[in-house]
Amino acid sequence: MRTRPTLSWTSADAPLPRTSSLDELTGVVARGRVAVLSGAGLSTESGIPDYRGESGSLRRHTPMTYDEFVSSAEGRQRYWARSHLGWRTIARADPNDGHRAVTALRDGGYVRGVITQNVDGLHQAAGTTDAVELHGSLDRVVCLDCRRTSPRAELDRRLRAANPGFTGAATRINPDGDVELPADVVRGFRTVPCETCEGVLKPDVVFFGENVPRPRVEQCYRLVDDAEALLVLGSSLTVMSGLRFVRHAAKAGKPVVIVNRGETRGDRYAAVRVDRPLGPALTELVSRLGADRGRTA
Ligand SMILES: [Zn+2]
Repeated sequence: MRTRPTLSWTSADAPLPRTSSLDELTGVVARGRVAVLSGAGLSTESGIPDYRGESGSLRRHTPMTYDEFVSSAEGRQRYWARSHLGWRTIARADPNDGHRAVTALRDGGYVRGVITQNVDGLHQAAGTTDAVELHGSLDRVVCLDCRRTSPRAELDRRLRAANPGFTGAATRINPDGDVELPADVVRGFRTVPCETCEGVLKPDVVFFGENVPRPRVEQCYRLVDDAEALLVLGSSLTVMSGLRFVRHAAKAGKPVVIVNRGETRGDRYAAVRVDRPLGPALTELVSRLGADRGRTA
């Protein structure tokens, strides 16, 4: 269940101190068979802000919940009006050095698989085409009635046609493609139904309060089981949907290495905590391993 962050979580064990050194990280990854779990912090260098990182927006912005989306036509209107503008920023975003480094590590045989909490498609754009999108992708839309999925680009064309001249002034974009919009602008926005059955369209992403599909969760557990270590990249692990894989790895005695700006909810499980910007740190890691020169594992 992807639940809202709780502030009551406390750690029984004091986490290890954070470091800026890559020595231990390099040692763990050099042994190979690492699973990666990535979060919003990996995409901030692509211009997509983090909810909870240093410039986190969660305090100002309440993400759409599943209950509100399915039960309220007004909620859906607000979501689609904001997302109609926000998605263009996400669709235009390019992968950064961090995404490219993950692909180099995957191609080099160091990384067995990638689980991402991000819905921006940037791992795929960087060449890690088999990244498991834990929370889905903004690239797709699903009908809640007939379950047909369709490309977001197709919906974008229909929304543009239904809302000629809609250019609402977006003030801030959030990682789920949502932006802030004045209420009167939202009220003028026209949503469109499923082309097949006239049903309700939803982005194919897991909203807060919604379960990640079980087969996808099982696939991620298998990925962690097949790995010898778990590398967390740019996630504060605030939601249980990601934290559970950290707990799972730690319980199995596998080293958990966290590279993130600032503290995370998984710190107590970490064997190593690196506090460095992701892009430069991962580029250096790739260089140290020689994975930028190609390696066959
Ligand atoms: Zn439908």
